[in-house]
Amino acid sequence: MSNKVNELYDTFGRKLQYLRISVTDRCNFRCKYCKPNNDFKSLECDDILRYEDILFTAKTFATLGVNRIRITGGEPLVRKGIIEFLSYLTKIENIDEVMVTTNGALLHKYAQDLYNAGVKRLNISLDSLQGERNKYITGFDKTKEILEGIKLASNIGIKPVKVNTVIIRGFNDDEIEDFAKLSAEYNVICRFIEFMPIGNSDNWGQENIVYGDEIIKRLSHYEPIELKKDKNAGPAVNYKLNNGGTIGIITPMSKHFCSECDKLRLTSDGKIRPCLLSDKEVDIKEIIKERNEEKLINKIIESLNLKKNQHDITDMEQKYDFKRTMSKIGG
Ligand code: SAM
Ligand code: SF4
Repeated sequence: MSNKVNELYDTFGRKLQYLRISVTDRCNFRCKYCKPNNDFKSLECDDILRYEDILFTAKTFATLGVNRIRITGGEPLVRKGIIEFLSYLTKIENIDEVMVTTNGALLHKYAQDLYNAGVKRLNISLDSLQGERNKYITGFDKTKEILEGIKLASNIGIKPVKVNTVIIRGFNDDEIEDFAKLSAEYNVICRFIEFMPIGNSDNWGQENIVYGDEIIKRLSHYEPIELKKDKNAGPAVNYKLNNGGTIGIITPMSKHFCSECDKLRLTSDGKIRPCLLSDKEVDIKEIIKERNEEKLINKIIESLNLKKNQHDITDMEQKYDFKRTMSKIGG
């Protein structure tokens, strides 16, 4: 395989730099907005890409200009062999950063191993600091373990550690300030994400979205100062608070950030998903299994050309249903 990097641009001039890989659709949580159906069925082992398949794919993407990879799920830390896999992934030529998104339940066990494997940036999803609420939303109360993992990750030098919270009106919007305090106390960036009412999201809908502007307003007594974005900042707008903490706002609903979208997603069953909020996918599983680099590159180009200028959610009053839940796509 050649190591020469050929940059790729989509039809709107956005340069492909970022690949998000879901390594499993399995999860140790049952978040209401993510895999809410009781009839949710995980993929069979044979349908999931093997680690060797993913490494081959990642190497091919790296020759096309991808320099950042995020590993997600389902829950990535439940897949056997994940640390060894990550230690290979972080060594791929041209890949500058490998990041992981986790629900944090197993982080207290794996933080040091992740660091040793070369993972230097971590996102932890945590929607509440209250045990009962976490039990309600995820099915389990692992609040203590998650907070322990976050502290550990921050102390061993994973930087930045980002805590991602989906804000849902009437459920956890009264904790916005608690997360602002957590940011200062744990030296982490707490990011608030607008809830996306897609799929079967319990009884929550459009009226439960708290838009980014409102979140900032609610924290005005911390005198938030908007920070300049660095080149790999992603969609969040970050603010420094006068308590020493840093928060971020991610607004998929109120201010879409499609114009900055430099990523493709690879699902655990071997499909490229050009946009999170669109059902269009390109099946590359057989090509990966054949180890056919040329065909794979053609499929990557085909997928990139399917990226639209803007995602499909344009009418805030409408309910959108996508064929796959987030746990199948990887968020
Ligand atoms: N299990 C890992 C975790 O929870 O961090 C990684 C996969 S999870 C699908 C990735 C992210 O998607 C999580 O931060 C989760 O909160 C977010 N997510 C899932 N459903 C969502 C929804 N309906 N609206 C906003 N974010 C959602
Ligand atoms: Fe699992 Fe993450 Fe989905 Fe929750 S959001 S069910 S932790 S994949």
